[in-house]
Parts: sequence; structure tokens; C-alpha cells
Amino acid sequence: MPKFVDTSPPGQCIFCRIVAREIPAAVVYEDELTVAFMDIGQVNPGHVLVATRRHAANLFEVTDEEAAALMQTARRVALADQQAFPSAGLTLLQANGAEGGQTVNHIHMHVVPRHANDGIELSWPRKEPAASVLAEYAEQLRNALAADRKRETAA
Ligand SMILES: [Zn+2]
Repeated sequence: MPKFVDTSPPGQCIFCRIVAREIPAAVVYEDELTVAFMDIGQVNPGHVLVATRRHAANLFEVTDEEAAALMQTARRVALADQQAFPSAGLTLLQANGAEGGQTVNHIHMHVVPRHANDGIELSWPRKEPAASVLAEYAEQLRNALAADRKRETAA
């Protein structure tokens, strides 16, 4: 599968340029916080990208409000896709960082209508750790969540 390479000049973000209408894009929906447009790389007809209007590189840089708006717009587009491009399934994909599969450093969510044998693959190498290891993982994460909550209430 050919990977998209962002060839925007340094310091310029291709999605910010789309949001600002500096470069043409097939915009399908926009509101105060998000803009949805057809992915030029159409994996299947109806493939849409939902991006925040404000530049934020990834999930770690958006506000709670923007995160919620991304999902609301993705759902809205998904429902419309079911009308315009009926499909048996639909995948939402949101990647962060190169290792996470992100190719444009402006947060976006893919809305992809899915069909049997459409060639899209997501490898999912299950590790199945012991229950005690899983319990340790959960403890680490609960501690991080509790610390995060404490920071929020202190702010
Ligand atoms: Zn941007």
C-alpha cells in the first residue's frame, strides 16, 4: 500500500492549508471545531478524514472538547456514508506518531466504509500475558489516571 508523504514546505501543515482553503480539497462537512474531507488516497469510496480546525499534532495536543468533536463528526460522516456508500462494515482509525502509523502530523480520524475482502489489513499480534501481569499493567494505568485526575482538580 503506497504511503502518503506530506510534501508541504517546512513549517506548513497540509491539513491547516486545507482548513484555510489554501489548497483544494473535497470538503464534505465542517463545524466550529472540525473539518471533514475526502481522503485523496481513497481506500474505499466514501473514505473521509476528519481533522480539527485548530492545528494540533495528535491526541495528546487536543482539548477534551476537540476530542469529543472529532468523534461526533466521525459518527455523523459514518452515518452519511451508510446512505451514500452503503457498506457491510466501517472502520474508524486515528493514529498518533510515526510508530502509531501517523503520516500527517495534524490530528485526524479516518472514516472508512468496509467491504468483504477489500484488502485493508490491520495486524493484531496478541500477546496474552498472565493474569498477574495484566493486573500489574492495570495498576500502573490506574495510578497514572489517578495522578492525572489529581492534577486536573488542582488546576
Ligand atoms: Zn495543521
